[in-house]
Amino acid sequence: MKARNPNEMMRTFVFGSAQYASPDKDGYISVELKITNEEMVSKIVSGEYRGLSVAWKVRKWECSIRHENLEECPHEVGRRYDDLICQMIARDIQAIELSVVSVPQDPRCRIIDMLVVRNRKNPEYIWYGFRVNTELDRFKNIQKAYERGLIPAKATFFFSKFFSINSEGKAVFP
Ligand SMILES: [Zn+2]
Repeated sequence: MKARNPNEMMRTFVFGSAQYASPDKDGYISVELKITNEEMVSKIVSGEYRGLSVAWKVRKWECSIRHENLEECPHEVGRRYDDLICQMIARDIQAIELSVVSVPQDPRCRIIDMLVVRNRKNPEYIWYGFRVNTELDRFKNIQKAYERGLIPAKATFFFSKFFSINSEGKAVFP
């Protein structure tokens, strides 16, 4: 477990969905961001700032016809081959810059969940669940928070159970 800064009484993480340019229907990945500006937290809760703006780095492009490395395949992007048009699919993608904005370019690029951890003797975990794109978004984010060591197993179970009944809302553990 990582050492904690004793002065850090409150830590906030947001989880969201971000899009990258891709003809795939899976052109979304989940992103995570630590919020250091406390004023931002209330703006995210109120809905004033929930959009995400992302800069991507694509390490590999794939051809949509044979799903091979685009640099090595014989097709030309944008040309038709029988019934298929060769398109570039982004693979091996990394978000290099992520920021919270009031109005995102793509409305699906936004904060879906926010976790506030209050470091007390008995830490308190507050999960805010906002509107999701797909039903699985929230569970993926809760699971991700657990895998990152941000929430304990008991809180993971509690939040998953809470949000299976309420798709949006605020849950506090313990
Ligand atoms: Zn190709």
